[in-house]
Amino acid sequence: MKVSYSPQLMEEAVFRHLNHLERSGYRAGYDEYHSLADPIYELPEDDREIAFAKVNKIFFIERLKLGEHVLRALEAVGLIPKRKRVSRKAQLAAAAMESDGYAGESEESDSDTGSDETSLEDQPPLPTDTDQQEENPTTDESSEDADGVISYDLAREFEERINEVTVKRAINKVDEGSNVLNRISGRPVIEMRVLASRFCNPEEAQELDAFLIQEFMHAKDMVDPEFDYEDAFIPGNPSVKNLITARFRLLWNMYVDSRLGRAGIISTMPKEARYREFDNFYRKIPEKQRRGIFEGIWRTDTFTHEELLSMATDLESLMSKYVDDVDMSEEERDYIHLQGSPCPLCKFPTYNWVDDPESICDEMVIEAIQIDFPDWESKDGGCDRCIEVYELRAGV
Ligand SMILES: [Zn+2]
Repeated sequence: MKVSYSPQLMEEAVFRHLNHLERSGYRAGYDEYHSLADPIYELPEDDREIAFAKVNKIFFIERLKLGEHVLRALEAVGLIPKRKRVSRKAQLAAAAMESDGYAGESEESDSDTGSDETSLEDQPPLPTDTDQQEENPTTDESSEDADGVISYDLAREFEERINEVTVKRAINKVDEGSNVLNRISGRPVIEMRVLASRFCNPEEAQELDAFLIQEFMHAKDMVDPEFDYEDAFIPGNPSVKNLITARFRLLWNMYVDSRLGRAGIISTMPKEARYREFDNFYRKIPEKQRRGIFEGIWRTDTFTHEELLSMATDLESLMSKYVDDVDMSEEERDYIHLQGSPCPLCKFPTYNWVDDPESICDEMVIEAIQIDFPDWESKDGGCDRCIEVYELRAGV
């Protein structure tokens, strides 16, 4: 697996990071950058872009070690095996001395960044600045003790399966996220889009790491044969599709968060905040059962893509999986009118329920329905279309 960063991301991240340091009173990195970048303006215009890109890369990877965030996130989710937590020099020494799997691994992750280093060798040696020594301890410790979510061997398999991870600059927050290209044909490429501003403040490093981990977890699921991701066709009109998509995203996020929680890794959102999201989508389920479903999903070790999608599409499958029959009578269930459950009149999956038509409709409407459906009661509810049809029929 190769990890690469777009020139645009490196440029903006380095620029913002150095400016932040400079404002905080650490000028060394800033001055050093300018001592390398300023002479580039003397070069012929055609050569400048490449020269700037080279300086930005030195700073992004070597000086400010911003790529470490990405590598640590890849380790945490198990897309690459854990590297040893030692300094680069010690790491090289260890790689030279040992011959077991770990040593081989650290050798390889060195050669990964090594390709970047070789391009730096013709550069004049740069003095180490104090800024870095200030910030390195904090960035190195943040997720150090996390166990990650999968074992070494499995991580190794993922690393081999994936061709490349490209990290690009997102234009705005909506643009942020990850995607997997060549998922089916050839070797997959994980494309990550992230705001460069996230790299600017070392104090926000934990947020950046949590974001990257969250996104890489999704990407990992997408290339995991066990998860069996498929570009599924979601039926229904646009509003139905949006609702199912939103619910699917929530359930998948819960699946990501709960695994991270078990591995002791901090997620982008605490569990209670996730529950509030869940709450919004499933408000019609009584509180007790709602909590039960949420906890049930949270405790589940593995899901497939299909399982998550079917739970997002059909609430019966969600209910039957996590709500005990003894907890809820058949009658109670029927009156919940979950989005997606069938209207008792037309039998179509219903997303816009009229829960108790009696309370809003004329008596004639209720009577008109009961002529066609003698067993129907107002609390059985109906879809808004059916109610509308019967309103027309009753002439109100
Ligand atoms: Zn209906």
